[in-house]
Amino acid sequence: MIELIRKNGVTAPIITCDQCSKRIKDVSMGMVFFSIFNDGEISYRICHKGNCDTGEPCSQELSHFLVWLLSNVGLKGEKLDKAIKSAKIMELI
Ligand SMILES: [Zn+2]
Repeated sequence: MIELIRKNGVTAPIITCDQCSKRIKDVSMGMVFFSIFNDGEISYRICHKGNCDTGEPCSQELSHFLVWLLSNVGLKGEKLDKAIKSAKIMELI
């Protein structure tokens, strides 16, 4: 889940594991698991790989999910470069 934390006077988004509630600090350690129901509803859980794996048959690397999400809101190319530069302060979190 996406949460907000406040540190050193800065409020920043983080991702926490939907299984253990701990922060996912390394994107390569995260997965997104999808549940697709008969009525067409889709839910998802963001979890650590390994012990927090929900075993859902549909899954995606967290890094791919985030890149896809950014693309779907139009944050790509020059807009993405500009956003990365303006978010450098987030590296302090
Ligand atoms: Zn976890």
